[in-house]
Amino acid sequence: MNDLIISNALIVPMTEERNCFEGFLRVSDGTVVEIGVGRAPSDGAVHQIIDAPGCVLMPGLVNAHTHLYQVLLRAVWEDLELMPWLKRIYGCARVLTPEHFYAGSLLGCVESIRSGVTTVCEHNFLNPTPECALETIRAMQDAGLRGVFARTIMDTGAIVPECTKETPEQAFRLIEAILARHRNSQQLTFMTGPNTPPINTTPNLLREVRRFADANSLGISAHVAESHSVVEAVRQQHGQNGVVKFLQQFGMPAKNSIFAHSVHVTNDEIQILQETGTSVSHNPVSNMMLGDGVAPVVEMLRQGVNVALGTDGAASNHSQDLFDTMKAASLLQKVHHQDAGVIKPYDVLRMATIGGAKALGLDSLCGSIEVGKRADLILIDIDSAHSQPVNDIFSQIVHCAKASDVKTVIVDGEVLMRDRQFTKLADQKILAEAKRANRDLMHRVSRLSF
Ligand SMILES: [Zn+2]
Repeated sequence: MNDLIISNALIVPMTEERNCFEGFLRVSDGTVVEIGVGRAPSDGAVHQIIDAPGCVLMPGLVNAHTHLYQVLLRAVWEDLELMPWLKRIYGCARVLTPEHFYAGSLLGCVESIRSGVTTVCEHNFLNPTPECALETIRAMQDAGLRGVFARTIMDTGAIVPECTKETPEQAFRLIEAILARHRNSQQLTFMTGPNTPPINTTPNLLREVRRFADANSLGISAHVAESHSVVEAVRQQHGQNGVVKFLQQFGMPAKNSIFAHSVHVTNDEIQILQETGTSVSHNPVSNMMLGDGVAPVVEMLRQGVNVALGTDGAASNHSQDLFDTMKAASLLQKVHHQDAGVIKPYDVLRMATIGGAKALGLDSLCGSIEVGKRADLILIDIDSAHSQPVNDIFSQIVHCAKASDVKTVIVDGEVLMRDRQFTKLADQKILAEAKRANRDLMHRVSRLSF
């Protein structure tokens, strides 16, 4: 028996609204086996105890959309809107190496863990060589996070370098190799998808991706309707009034699909998302940074669409901090609607936990604290000047808590960080290697013309 007990915490299980209580939790072999009110019973057989007075114990946060390696590109090209910015991001593929992907992705994982993220969906889209994807996966595994690796495809586009364009057949062979290699991975699952339809995908690719995803039981991750320019492209190139409507003819909206952004979608398209069970990853900080617009999150929630939260890559965020993202998600809807009560903190917290887990097909494993689920848990220190006194714990997690308040992070029952000390990662060495990778990448990028 490898038991862990966490005691004396304020438990926020995210199972039903307003449910929270002082109590304890017991984990056995990575599974939550007991949750109780009050003090933990002592049975003398426990291996590890974490006493957590002054802490919230809640499910680990789920980052439903990011590009981990982009921490190497923080605050680069930040004054550009989506299309000219993307031209540079894509252009980097001409000089990106597998070493950049490993060093950047591992630093992205360190930042994620330090800000309470236990699950990351890596939307992977630049693969000048197959090793770039493999090194990203290796970083996610080395970090110990629960991961979803969404290996997407591009087969066209004036701003897409030739080295990252693939035929569907070429890409599918590489994805099959990844699946074969990681078939028995405990903490890693896979998705595929068109990267940003229609600006870098042909209709043929969309048809083939749907067929391939169905044949391999893979979910689909795609950037959808991120800016006006994408909606305009679908209108000009395909005569369709909306990216979701365009994608519907290829069967892309579906229960196991996650559409990142969905900023410029009509009410009819929100209805398509709801009827098909498609989830949305809302990435408010990235949307604000690139000047994309405001996603109709309140309307989606009202119509019953499952909404998750994502940071997006650090090239457009510039962090991997979901606490920042939760606060931005809340405030952006309030100011957009000019209505302070338009979105509830609990709904924002749901998006960052069980909403994300559901979007990634992981809600039977994580996203809430329940007996039988895997132990993906975080402890947040709320005994601080900026979090006390506590009057509304849900609002205060969303609006007061900071990433630096996360004390302890547990994934699949394994303690990855305790009292802000990593248990298995050499974070200072990872930081030094990421700095070195950044210097090398920036030197190579300086010789590119865009
Ligand atoms: Zn993205």
